[in-house]
Amino acid sequence: MTIYDNVLNAEGALIVGAGLAGLFCALKLAPRPVTVLSPKPLGLGASSSWAQGGVAAAVGLGDSAEAHARDTDIAGAGIVDFELAESVAAEAAERIEDLAKWGTPFDRDPDGRFVLSKEAAHSVNRVVRVSGDRAGREIMRALIEEVRNTPSIRIVEGITAVDLARADGRVIGVYARKLGDRYAEPVLIRARATVLAAGGLGGLYAVTTNPPGVRGHAMGMAARAGAIIADSEFVQFHPTAMAVGQDPAPLATEALRGEGAILVNDKGERFMLDEHKDAELAPRDIVARANFRQIQQGRKVFLDTRDALGDRIFNAFPTVTNYCKESGIDPSKDMIPVTPAAHFHMGGVKVDDRGRSSLAGLWVCGEASCTGLHGANRLASNSLLEAVVFGARIAEDISGLEPINKSLPPYLGIEWDEEKGQEAEQLLRNLTAVQQLRHIMTDYVGVERSEEGLKTALREIRELELTARDVTRSYLNMTTSATLVAAAALARTESRGGHYRSDYPDKNPKFKDHTTLTITEALKIRDAC
Ligand SMILES: Cc1cc2nc3c(=O)[nH]c(=O)nc-3n(C[C@H](O)[C@H](O)[C@H](O)COP(=O)(O)OP(=O)(O)OC[C@H]3O[C@@H](n4cnc5c(N)ncnc54)[C@H](O)[C@@H]3O)c2cc1C
Repeated sequence: MTIYDNVLNAEGALIVGAGLAGLFCALKLAPRPVTVLSPKPLGLGASSSWAQGGVAAAVGLGDSAEAHARDTDIAGAGIVDFELAESVAAEAAERIEDLAKWGTPFDRDPDGRFVLSKEAAHSVNRVVRVSGDRAGREIMRALIEEVRNTPSIRIVEGITAVDLARADGRVIGVYARKLGDRYAEPVLIRARATVLAAGGLGGLYAVTTNPPGVRGHAMGMAARAGAIIADSEFVQFHPTAMAVGQDPAPLATEALRGEGAILVNDKGERFMLDEHKDAELAPRDIVARANFRQIQQGRKVFLDTRDALGDRIFNAFPTVTNYCKESGIDPSKDMIPVTPAAHFHMGGVKVDDRGRSSLAGLWVCGEASCTGLHGANRLASNSLLEAVVFGARIAEDISGLEPINKSLPPYLGIEWDEEKGQEAEQLLRNLTAVQQLRHIMTDYVGVERSEEGLKTALREIRELELTARDVTRSYLNMTTSATLVAAAALARTESRGGHYRSDYPDKNPKFKDHTTLTITEALKIRDAC
């Protein structure tokens, strides 16, 4: 990369974000040159590394892409793009082979076939897993090693994008700055193709399973540049984040319920039996709402793995076991306290089936995007699949633009500074304005919403933007995303999938389409409140 007056030139493509979507796309682009921006050292700060369950893929005997798409469609509550879902499901086997080729040690039986887990709302066992519940960690470990050994990929750690750069009607790169230097003048990083892979927005909520840096920056940045946003109201709340006083809340994977773990309240009642025919394996939104209501009524909710798993939990679910240990819980003897937490964003920057956004020069993949796959509610373990499928499609789409065979120096001169990085993280946790925003989202734009609450949220977010003393572009990206979620939620006067309105508890056929919104439209809704 060359530096002229605060302008850096990324030869070839620029990928913003180094989770599974970004790294997979970079590897698929090889040997074409690509620069990948990661605020933290590779692997840290990405939801991908925390994934427990695995990747949904119709690779089992008797399973099919059509059956996978059908389950995706049912979970998505009427607004999944079925053809797209079928095509994504059909590409799963190839992408899993890519991951295996790059070193992911998938769990296999003695005959070499994938071990497949069952997760909620899948009609068959369909989730390929790695070392029990360590899918994300192991997949990312393997990809990071591969990326570091690929000379065409240049990784820049310790840098965060704050704005998209545009010229002549197209996106020409991003403005970025060192993590922690909140008031530093951003540097323009120019590229021939920009891929936004900077994750979802769970961290905008006070109770979340997402890493602290995943706070809607990608969607906010794209919206402020004029991109069309789709389905922003649809946020998935995971029913069983561990209620152990940690931020973010550690996750107790759904696969535990797949193995027979049950939910009980502090009176010992197994309340899910009255809520849904599939009890604990009902779609996530239904289980999350049931837990939420128990808690609203002053009850505590627990995940009981003792009869279903006993001591087997230690080997089968090492990640959950470690989280329990850290909180003094022995899951073979004790029940695990749980709560719903913001977990996944079905909406995002609207893209077509090649990952192209509405802005020329900008592709978006992973949780930052809205491909139409998830509809109103994501089917468990479909997001890692979407990240790899669209990472590959985007690489193919932009390949024609790039000159081949350039080997890039791996180092730009911006180094990860552990001390500064930790300071920045602490700062982000403590900033009053950020915490206020997160509480507004959990209180008014959470598991249950209403007109009154959503209007309050929009007014309070506007107030925060006007008065927060430490408003930076990064904060503006967060408030922009928060505004888009709340405005779309206010406009959708029905309940569907992850979006539940207590004042409109039923589904309304009038709303069977995707929501599309620009920031201008969202601000109009906000300013009318
Ligand atoms: C606890 C947990 C468990 C999960 N389990 C599963 C599962 O079993 N199966 C499944 O399919 N899905 C699961 N999910 C969801 C899934 O992990 C995510 O949807 C997926 O990993 C998103 O990948 P991504 O690459 O889009 O984003 P991420 O992995 O979140 O990566 C985003 C990247 O962008 C970077 N970034 C953020 N902001 C900026 C910026 N401004 N500039 C530059 N870079 C930026 C981040 O640092 C990070 O490197 C889980 C999620 C969580 C939180």
